[in-house]
Amino acid sequence: MTVLELRSVHKRYGSVEALAGLDLRVARGEVVALLGPNGAGKTTAFELLLGLARPTSGEARVLGEAPGGRVKRRLGVMLQDAGLPEQVTVSELVRLIGRSYPVALPVDEVLARVGLTDRRRRTVTDLSGGERQRLLLALAIVSAPELLLLDEPTAAMDVASRRAFWERTRASVRDGATMLFATHDLAEADAVADRVVVLGDGRLIADAPPAALKRLVASKTIRVTTDAPVAVVTALPGAERIELDDVGGGPAPPGMQRLLVHAAKAEDVLVPLVLGGHAISDLTVADADLEDAFVHLTRAAPPVPTLDGAPS
Ligand code: ATP
Repeated sequence: MTVLELRSVHKRYGSVEALAGLDLRVARGEVVALLGPNGAGKTTAFELLLGLARPTSGEARVLGEAPGGRVKRRLGVMLQDAGLPEQVTVSELVRLIGRSYPVALPVDEVLARVGLTDRRRRTVTDLSGGERQRLLLALAIVSAPELLLLDEPTAAMDVASRRAFWERTRASVRDGATMLFATHDLAEADAVADRVVVLGDGRLIADAPPAALKRLVASKTIRVTTDAPVAVVTALPGAERIELDDVGGGPAPPGMQRLLVHAAKAEDVLVPLVLGGHAISDLTVADADLEDAFVHLTRAAPPVPTLDGAPS
């Protein structure tokens, strides 16, 4: 069952097209990451789904209803830069917000789920940055929502806090709630989401499970020192993307250069180089990670919005 849907949605702010014909559907029980560089349209998509803004054209549906209005009570939401009243205590605030919903979980249970039991009597103003994020999560889950919409919930958290946050969030939604969250962090999308939706310039660039996303682009990263000019390597049909490797190994010997070459198969790059009489040394070949996939997808023309990983 579809719980969230954007259909051919355009959103224009003056001359800026924040969303340019976005189609997105999320089914019940799915955990979906919305990934994209700054300005890709992630926050705009959340605003439309929450009824905080209206599409210029196209349609948004949430839990079968128009966004905003009654359906808000069935959602748990974390927005970027959400303001909090500073002088109330943690437990007072969770109780207060819980009362604004028809059904709310017990305050103690919510605080235990987000790891704030020992901060329950602190005022909001005395919380650390990470504790504030956990309080925002508590406010998002207090109503036992059917759908969680989280806009960059782990921004500004360190790696350990992120891991703990997602463990708690996963535990909080184990009763089958659906979740859409925005992130810039590829490792996070890979670790947490069943599906990754990549946006660029307001358009859908890819929609696939993390593993399929990685398969959609070059799957090997070749680090090599060679005397072949960049133009020669670029011209190889097997080389999908080339960068000068200015990180590894220090300056290259005279007449040589260190390159990072992204390719589906390492041999498609290395064999023609060797057969062409070029010197190669300091060679390593590694599997590409999601970062490579993401950078490639957001730079390239949109090729591949498929679910099963097969280029369309
Ligand atoms: P970030 O990762 O930086 O949060 P984002 O993917 O969430 O970015 P949006 O905030 O949705 O991107 O912005 C998409 C585009 O729309 C940007 O070019 C932004 O400047 C523009 N935009 C968003 N909201 C408004 C607004 N209220 N008025 C004018 N332009 C806006």
